[in-house]
Amino acid sequence: CRLGHCHALALRSVSCILCYQPIFKILFTATNANFTVMLHSIEREDKHLHKGLRKQLVEQLKGKGITDPAVLQAIEKIPRHFFLDPAFERIAYEDRAFPIVADQTISQPYTVAYQTQLLEIRKFDKVLEIGTGSLYQSCVLAEMGAIVHTIERQRALYDFVSKFFFLKKYPNIKRHYGDGYEGLKTYAPFDKVIVTAAAPYVPPKLIEQLKPNGIAVIPVGDESGQKMYRIRKDAAGHITEEVLGDFSFVPMLTGKNK
Ligand code: SAH
Repeated sequence: CRLGHCHALALRSVSCILCYQPIFKILFTATNANFTVMLHSIEREDKHLHKGLRKQLVEQLKGKGITDPAVLQAIEKIPRHFFLDPAFERIAYEDRAFPIVADQTISQPYTVAYQTQLLEIRKFDKVLEIGTGSLYQSCVLAEMGAIVHTIERQRALYDFVSKFFFLKKYPNIKRHYGDGYEGLKTYAPFDKVIVTAAAPYVPPKLIEQLKPNGIAVIPVGDESGQKMYRIRKDAAGHITEEVLGDFSFVPMLTGKNK
């Protein structure tokens, strides 16, 4: 890596295990196979340009009504372009969704910020996320100090992010392969639940697995569009629902996909 931590580890990783900087010294000794990997990681550098674009994005999000300073700080800090195909590097900080592996999408930054703000995250909140996707939303929550349990139903995506260096940076992210409709009984109850795919209805198990005084944020609807629901469980276990703005997510599907 640029800081010189890790010559010996280079062949096994695309980023330094100490500082998470991309490794590029190996470029000169690499076999063809590794050469591709290294080119890929060079493009993953977080340059001043990217930092500047993130600042602009944060200003846009403020203009669209995002006020939670911790949400804005997390978005300013996390290099979103690392989560995207290098082809999108130059446009990674536009406020729009992008395709990722297995025909899925990384949500638009505004959507990530909006859902996260609705969750009223506090440090050490135990959060259940349905739809790991690119891992970006999980990282935003983890950066804010939450303990994140994230479920993905697509094996290809679950495997794709398994070597992602953000998992070392954020040991407070725990990934699970499974069907989000079931929640995660073993780790329940949760302070917060976030669904990042369009649910046809509010999945009952997710509300069961919410703690008293907990909050769930779920886009509910079909492929023609969804409304964002914020569901609160009070101290006595009573449920109240707020129906908020319009969104467009990929569908929340049942079962696991191998
Ligand atoms: N949070 C993600 C958004 C991913 S898109 C990000 O920041 O990139 C929605 C994801 O939900 C997809 O990866 C899709 O495979 C997943 N998904 C859909 N239905 C699911 C279910 N029942 N359980 C778990 N994941 C599901």
